[in-house]
Amino acid sequence: MTAAQTAQTQPAPQDLHDTRTRLTIDLGAIVENWKTIAARVAPAECSAVVKANAYGLGIGQVAPALWLAGARTFFVAHLAEAITLRALLPEAVIYVLNGLPPGTTAQFATHQLRPVLGSLPEIGEWSSLCRSMKADLPAALHVDTGMNRLGLSLEEAAHIAQERAGLRFTPSLIMTHLACADTPDHPLTPIQRDRFFAVTRLFPDVRASLANSAGTQLDASYHMDLVRPGILLYGGRAIEHAPPLRPVVRLEAPVIQVRHAKAGESVGYGATEHLRRDSRLAILHIGYADGLFRAAGSTDARKGAQVIIADQRCPLVGRISMDLCAVDITDLPEDAVARGMGAIFLGACIDVDELAQKAGTISYEVLTSLGARYQRHYLAP
Ligand SMILES: *Cc1c(COP(=O)(O)O)cnc(C)c1O
Repeated sequence: MTAAQTAQTQPAPQDLHDTRTRLTIDLGAIVENWKTIAARVAPAECSAVVKANAYGLGIGQVAPALWLAGARTFFVAHLAEAITLRALLPEAVIYVLNGLPPGTTAQFATHQLRPVLGSLPEIGEWSSLCRSMKADLPAALHVDTGMNRLGLSLEEAAHIAQERAGLRFTPSLIMTHLACADTPDHPLTPIQRDRFFAVTRLFPDVRASLANSAGTQLDASYHMDLVRPGILLYGGRAIEHAPPLRPVVRLEAPVIQVRHAKAGESVGYGATEHLRRDSRLAILHIGYADGLFRAAGSTDARKGAQVIIADQRCPLVGRISMDLCAVDITDLPEDAVARGMGAIFLGACIDVDELAQKAGTISYEVLTSLGARYQRHYLAP
């Protein structure tokens, strides 16, 4: 037998571990979500925000799928993410949201990346680069309209507009970021929009971008020339209580054992939850080291997350351990749950926001915390 044949007949490493916790990422659903948003905001351009490894779901798979679907402009947070993305998408327009770290202009130029410039020193450095390279290299300007995170003040933006001749580059985009658009009718949202309108009037020839996912769900005055959705692509809710688009992630953990415990006994570390009846428990192969937030565990005072097992919702019992957690399956028929069966934490019936809410956090943090030891499966578009 040749070495190649031996390799073929031996199971791949993941087959040796097919009892591992399994994460399925539906690239078709991500593409469909992108198309739904793009249709809603047309004629505005729909970009894709793929920072933090595409919200934890895998930039290497997500970005090429969105490119094939028609996305042409992408946003990441870090220079390193942008360099990874450039290797995947040689022709894409790539913006780096966190701007221009000192001394990195050459790398931006080499990889044809566009910084989102949010301060006068950054603008100065980019101008110097353009002067020394005798080139008009595109970059975005970020204006702060009420979030106090990144971006030029309104006064600085007005100053730059007056001194446009001194800039050695033509801004390719002017943008701001909404702080509260996920809260319906928050008063800051229209205030930010109107402040931004005043700035964009000073840059009439520059494309403007205001909307994150939540902004895409507001009226057309928020869409402007380009929208920047992230969480909606990945199955999260953009606006509180509004339904998500198609679910993207399925997270499933196998049952390691089924056991019995008596009424009055406690379950797990700290004995935080006591059983009110004789119970059957399923112990699952997943814990907080897999990104399952410990805060989603259960106590006598506060019920935790639920999972779907044998097509029924069942509650977690007690604290989540590093690698394990317990589920109460007493209400299921005696033989409904067997060793090796899967329990679903995220999927069609339990969306990311439900699990996030049980853990006292948001869908963004659930997705970006998804564990590195899952067996990942991608469903092709
Ligand atoms: C992360 C981010 C987005 C995308 O936000 P979502 O709420 O996930 O749609 C858009 N713009 C900026 C500046 C961001 O930092």
